[in-house]
Amino acid sequence: MHDNDGVTVWDTLVGQDAVVATLTAAATAAALVTEGGSLVAARAGMTHSWLFTGPAGSGLADAARAFAAGLLCENIPPGCGQCPGCHTVLSNTAADLRTVRPEGLSIGVRDVRALIRDAASAPSAGRWRILLIEDADRFTDSAANALLKALEEPAERAVFLLCAPSVDDVLPTIRSRCRSVALRLPNPKNVADVLIREGTAEDLAAVLAQASQGHVGQARRLATDPQARARRESVLRLPSRLRRVGDCLAAAADLVDAANADAQAANAERDEVETEALKTALGVGATSSGTRSTSARGAKAGAKPRSLQVRGAAGALKELERTQKSRGRRTVLDSLDRALVDLAGLYRDVLVQQLRGQVTPVHPDQADTVAQLAAAATPEQTLRRWEAVLATRQALADNPGLVPQLAAESLALTLRDA
Ligand SMILES: [Zn+2]
Repeated sequence: MHDNDGVTVWDTLVGQDAVVATLTAAATAAALVTEGGSLVAARAGMTHSWLFTGPAGSGLADAARAFAAGLLCENIPPGCGQCPGCHTVLSNTAADLRTVRPEGLSIGVRDVRALIRDAASAPSAGRWRILLIEDADRFTDSAANALLKALEEPAERAVFLLCAPSVDDVLPTIRSRCRSVALRLPNPKNVADVLIREGTAEDLAAVLAQASQGHVGQARRLATDPQARARRESVLRLPSRLRRVGDCLAAAADLVDAANADAQAANAERDEVETEALKTALGVGATSSGTRSTSARGAKAGAKPRSLQVRGAAGALKELERTQKSRGRRTVLDSLDRALVDLAGLYRDVLVQQLRGQVTPVHPDQADTVAQLAAAATPEQTLRRWEAVLATRQALADNPGLVPQLAAESLALTLRDA
């Protein structure tokens, strides 16, 4: 969501018509009941906690953010995309929207406490104070308990928007307090339409939409970033390289190096901006009033100056460094996971070919590779390899301590010996 030349905030939600209908209705109702500023009416008509669920790539955070824009929109029907309410949300500068995304592998109790304090303050411009929590499946236990208390007795104007892969990823006690909004993975046709609308040629859009398996963000990256396309190609060449043990180790190293490069590209600029911002804040003496207007990403940094006064500059910078390191690791894991999804899709295509199945391939542009791999193995071997890729994904997701390099080496050797 960058420019908004005549489009509404809902247009960014690909293939989610039912969700858009629900959210538009809710935002309209919320606008009507707060007409005249009656808090009683607002309380009667508004659900304070929402849980957005859907697989990676379904656009969870986009949906939650569109809803936030709808709630802060000044027009009816809400979510016009043009008014200051919508515009500030889309440009990440809304004073009344605070976004929390885990910087590391989990969201701690300290983040949640800051959020709850924020929720209790009055909206500064709009009707609602909106707290958007991405990856609500990553709460620590104490953080989840702290949040639960806030959901049980929400501040009058506070709206919590939680995002998680599925309802099962959130504590039942939290889930039961929320109204649930389930997104589905858009089909390749929907994704291709988005790419074409954004300027990708039709043929390429069809291939990339299929290859990204409904993941809009990934499809967009492949369409616009030649390096991302090169990384995908090199991942898909990997199974053909595994002849000797040395090949396996080299392939594993390449896989992890690519994930590292990907993560570095994604984080480098942001890390630098944050460090500079923190240094500036320290130099200025951390007068924290007004920092909130920097919103979303800024709000997180904006919450820091107060505690900085106590802990001192060196400690604060060290803490930021730790945060950035942890975020770096998470980005590496996300990138590695995308590579494994690509690889799993390839083995699926191979198996489909071996069994003469009649389904659309995941990687329509890899027919040659698929044919070679299909000729060189039995279906049982292919199935074992496919399963090994999926097991590695699971292991990396389940064990935060697992070293990516070791996981990749173990996978490469298993693929060779299967
Ligand atoms: Zn608007």
